[in-house]
Formats: sequence, C-alpha cells, structure tokens
Amino acid sequence: MSDENKAAEAANATEFMAKLVALCKRRGIIFQSSEIYGGFNGFWDYGPYGTPMRRSIGNLWWKYMVEDRDNVEGLDSSIICHPSVWRASGHVDHFSDQMTDCKDCKKRWRVDQLPVPGECPACGSHNLTEPRDFNLMMRTYVGPVFDEDHIAYLRAETCQPIFVDFNTIRVAARQQLPFGIAQIGKAFRNEINPRNFTFRSREFMQMEMEFFCKDEGSLDWFEYWRHERWNFYTKILHIPEEKLRWKWHEKLAHYAKQAVDIEYLFPFGWDEVEGIHHRGTWDMSQHALFSKQEAQCKYFDAETKEAFYPTVVETSCGLDRISLMVLCNAYDEDTAATKKEGKEEDARVVLHLTPMIAPVQVAVLPLSKKLEAPAREVQKALRQACFRTEYDDTGSIGKRYRRQDEVGTPFCVTYDFDSENDHAVTVRNRDTMAQERVPLADLSAKLFAWIHA
Ligand code: ATP
Repeated sequence: MSDENKAAEAANATEFMAKLVALCKRRGIIFQSSEIYGGFNGFWDYGPYGTPMRRSIGNLWWKYMVEDRDNVEGLDSSIICHPSVWRASGHVDHFSDQMTDCKDCKKRWRVDQLPVPGECPACGSHNLTEPRDFNLMMRTYVGPVFDEDHIAYLRAETCQPIFVDFNTIRVAARQQLPFGIAQIGKAFRNEINPRNFTFRSREFMQMEMEFFCKDEGSLDWFEYWRHERWNFYTKILHIPEEKLRWKWHEKLAHYAKQAVDIEYLFPFGWDEVEGIHHRGTWDMSQHALFSKQEAQCKYFDAETKEAFYPTVVETSCGLDRISLMVLCNAYDEDTAATKKEGKEEDARVVLHLTPMIAPVQVAVLPLSKKLEAPAREVQKALRQACFRTEYDDTGSIGKRYRRQDEVGTPFCVTYDFDSENDHAVTVRNRDTMAQERVPLADLSAKLFAWIHA
C-alpha cells in the first residue's frame, strides 16, 4: 500500500473511532471515568445503554461456556488474593513491559508499540531512554500497616484463582478430568499506554476458562476449544468470519505446546480479542511449589492410582474488548425516509447490534401521548416476557426511531389509534426498516423468535 493510501486509511480509522466514541458518550453507552475531574486515563464507565449490552455479552459467554456444558464449572473469586499467588504465577517478577521515556516531551511508551523504533510518536524526538522493565501489577496494602510486608495485588488476570481453587471445586462439583473452570471478573493492569478507546484499559473485565486434562490428548482439547471459541464469535455474536482471523504464536512459552489468538479487524487494524493457550502443567506445578500443597494441585487418577499435575488449555478474552469489537462491527451510517420538510431521506446513525445483546430489545412508542395507558400495558407484558424494553412518547415518531437506531434497538413497536380496535401493533425492524402489523396476541412469540434467530 502506498504511503498516501496508508495515511488515508489511518485518517478514516481515526474519524470512525472519533464518531463511535462521541456516540458512546452522547448516548450513555461508554464514557471516561471521572469526567468532571478531567477523566482518568485507562478507566471507563458504562452508562444506561452500555451496562445491559456488556452484561448480555457476558451472560451469553457464561451460558455458552458454563451453563450449556456438564464439564465446565463456574467460579467467582476475590479480586485480591494471597500475594504468593502472584509470585508463583511469575507476575511479581516478570509481568512487565519494556518502556522508554522521551527525554524531550517526557511521554512514556511501550517499546514494542513504537510505530517507528527509536522515535517518539508524540514529538518525533530520537532522544529516548534505554528500555526499562515496567511491572504492570497494580499494588495496594492490606492490613493496618502500609509497608512492604503488607503489599497485595489487584489481580492481573482472572485465571490464577482458578488454579488455586482447582481441587476445592473439583471435589465440590464431583468432577473427573477432563473438566474446566470458568470465571468472569475484573482484572487490573497498569498499562503504560492505554489506547484505542477501551481496547487497552487499566481496569477491565476478563472471561477465562481453564480446561484441566491429561497431557495425552491435550492438543485435541486445544483444537476443540479453539473451534468452540471461533463459533462463539461467529454464531453467537454474529461477527462476520472475514473480520476475524487466527494469529498463531511463533514463540511459545517453554511449557506450552500451542498458542493462538483470535484477532478482529478493528478500524485501527487487526488486533487480539482472545488467546487460546496450551499451558502444559506449568500453573499447577508452580502453585504446588509455592504453596507446598502438592496434593491440592495434583489430580489422583483412581484407575491408575497415580497422582499427576493436570495439563491446562486456556481460553482467555476481554469482555470490554469484545464489547468494543461488537460496537465497531455494529456502527453504521445510512439513510432513512423522513417527513422533514423538503426532504425524502435523512442520514441516520445505527448500531446493527445482534438483538440478544442490544441494550433495548423492544421500544414501545405510542403514536400519541393520549395512548400512554394501553401502550404501557404492552410494555408491561413485554417486560414480563423478559425483553429489555424502553417506553418513549417524546417527539415525532421519526425522531424516536432515530433515537432507538442509535442505541441499536432491533424492534420498535408502535401503538396507534387502530390498535384499540384491531388489537395489533406495528413492529418496525431496525435493519430493514420494514414495518409489519402484528396481533398483540402474537407479539411476544414473534419477538422471541426474531430475537433468538
Ligand atoms: P495484549 O498483548 O493486548 O497486551 P495479552 O496477550 O497480554 O494482551 P492476555 O493476558 O492473554 O492478553 O489477556 C487475555 C485477553 O484479555 C486479551 O485477549 C484481551 O481481550 C483482554 N485484555 C488484556 N489486556 C487488556 C487491557 N489492558 N484492556 C482490555 N482488555 C485486555
């Protein structure tokens, strides 16, 4: 690609992201934490529309990975655990990025993310410090004394408590190998350079599953899980296959037999949303070494009468990064019919979110404020049928459609003056903008079928 094309592509990506970030703020999807204090870099708040969206993605993951399987159990561990956990995992000594400081503009960068090696992306200076290790663990103190002995860490990943709790969960759930343990929760990393909206944050949600198995056959499990994870993106979240790709790791950790990332084509380029890793017996043997509780970290095979460290296949993704991916994939600008004077069409911003994760699944819009009472009854029935709904009677119907399009509401139900007599409502489809008259008696069933299609 020529330099000119590259520059045009970068400008488009910047413009796209600026529009998405502005929409997310304006409509209360995602915005900077502590904005009235100027924001806090790397921390984000999810508002009234972002919260249900992120939660539904997490719930879909949980259903797909835990509830729909007999061989995966759930965990919700504490965020702060014994500091030795992070020594055993290697995070205290090795969880670091190489960073360099610009001596001129004083900005700090990750060495592996410098677009031009040795050059400050902010001011172009080559006056950079030698690379230094920068530990990403976030520290706090636990107990009454704030000294070295009382340091604890906010977890940098959700999987370590899974390893530590392996035996307790296995016994409680009466599981035999092979089986998995999954958890969704906060993780914290003192990222040097948070960037690309929520893509790299300092506080984020991870969704991880550790699958414990015998070493023999573990590569088959690796293959199984990587396909399962691909299907999650393509079949559950409906991300187009052409926007996803595999990125195989060329350099593997000494204990690993295989590692691959699933990457998405973000506006700013291909980047990781999930890692699927074969981790060998590394994690369990490390915790045995540091805790001296070998029996808790091994699996006793009743048939062979042998105890051994289980091999682990991990699937690890970020809920915020997936939320960003679905927003990037959903954002669109097109045109819609309008009743504005002198215009037949008007521009609209629309989020083509898959209905299962749309913050509002059905909006109920009475044609006139006078129809509030029966329209509220329709909303009540839809709520009872477990749809996420919103009632809106402010402004013209066109304006109300536009408001719903912007937050990705797949269906708008209009209650009009005929509804009293024909006991039917008009359902408008966000993507096709087609309208269909649906009897009230069939409404829930139809919406359910469309949303779960
Ligand atoms: P990266 O190379 O992007 O720093 P990583 O390889 O260190 O990521 P993992 O430790 O494997 O990431 O974490 C698994 C997943 O957690 C990532 O695929 C991503 O979805 C998510 N994740 C990791 N770091 C962040 C972050 N700083 N902000 C948001 N999500 C993150």
